[in-house]
Amino acid sequence: MGLDTLIFQTHPSSRYSLAALMGAIESDPRLSDITVKAPLHSSMKGIEEHASRGEVLIAHSLMSTQTDRVYNNVRRIRERFGDKIHIVGGGPHASIRPGELIEVGFDFVIVGEGEKKFTDLLYYLQREKDPSELDGVITEPQKNYPHPKDFKPIDLDTYPPFALKSNIVGPIEVTRGCPFHCKFCSTPFLTGGVVRHRSISNIVEWLKQAVEKSGFERTWFMSPNALCYGGRGRRLELEKLEELLRRTSSIEGLNDIYFGSFPSEVRPEFVTKAALEVLRQYVANSSLQIGIQSGSNRILQEVNRHHTVEEGISAAETALDCGFTPNIDMIFGFPNEASQEQEMSVDLCYDLIEMGASVHAHVFMPLPGSAYEYMLPGKLTDATRKHLGDLARRGLVTGSWGNQEEIAKRLASQFRIDIAKS
Ligand code: SF4
Repeated sequence: MGLDTLIFQTHPSSRYSLAALMGAIESDPRLSDITVKAPLHSSMKGIEEHASRGEVLIAHSLMSTQTDRVYNNVRRIRERFGDKIHIVGGGPHASIRPGELIEVGFDFVIVGEGEKKFTDLLYYLQREKDPSELDGVITEPQKNYPHPKDFKPIDLDTYPPFALKSNIVGPIEVTRGCPFHCKFCSTPFLTGGVVRHRSISNIVEWLKQAVEKSGFERTWFMSPNALCYGGRGRRLELEKLEELLRRTSSIEGLNDIYFGSFPSEVRPEFVTKAALEVLRQYVANSSLQIGIQSGSNRILQEVNRHHTVEEGISAAETALDCGFTPNIDMIFGFPNEASQEQEMSVDLCYDLIEMGASVHAHVFMPLPGSAYEYMLPGKLTDATRKHLGDLARRGLVTGSWGNQEEIAKRLASQFRIDIAKS
């Protein structure tokens, strides 16, 4: 007997990928006989009940910062159920370290975009076919593992952005992929350097259905760089952007569209008066998430950002002029960042706050899949820590830098870097 029940191990940080995968399953007529569960708190007892009735597959989507929690869960499932339960892993960390997941006890690991590979895997398991025949599905240790870029990118329009039937919804991913290669970021490794957009007609169609079936009144668009919508990712395509916003905001029943604020971001050099006047006309967000990342032009150049501090400041000014509060992403503790350069970033935070911006502070983490994955973890100087603490107490800076410092150390130690020397 083939696969009977799929149980997602849900976690707040993977809810967007859950919505997209559930959408892909719902729209696949081959999979209509599979029972799909996505409980907020999955229990061993619940798994046991399903396992007593048929074959069960547990699914985890994991990021590199979540491996401890997920691996513990996998080990507990293995201890309790042995090989009776199958476990599949997907998401960023699975794509980057498939061999590690196989070692921990996953039966199947999906490398790259999940929509097609995951639904094909479910179909194969249901039909008792051999999943090792599937491209991008790893089933055993290998000498060399594929990379996400080895597979043809999916067309976003082919899959729903979320799961309306199960009412598991989230932001609409309007753009996937990024042509920039910031060295601290794993997005280009995971989704490729070629930018793909969900078409405007497809977005409109799904939103109309969401209003009708799920009572949507507002929606969030998700993009690594909101202002690149419609183009190849390196410059503004204002007409396309306006058409997207005009057509979606005229959907009856849909009151608010959020774009350019979390979970999206914009690159500073895309922030022009013309672009923000268009945004201001249609979007409900009062803030704009802008990545400046450092107050040092040397660091910006070294991390491959392709913009300057001055362009960042000018973007913040333009945002303010156009009625948005700029919320600026900054990263402290980059590899080879001198303490004076960290000080320049702190000074920039004060200048931006003075102008009327707010700051979201991060500590550099050596993320697997990024060009900096083998670098030492980011560290705040005592002075930076004090400044950020003071600004946070005054409500001017947000962020979890303490937590990120710990995660950064853990990531680095996992990759056998001798952090004792740092
Ligand atoms: S930080 Fe943003 S612009 Fe840079 S590579 Fe990542 S997604 Fe692209």
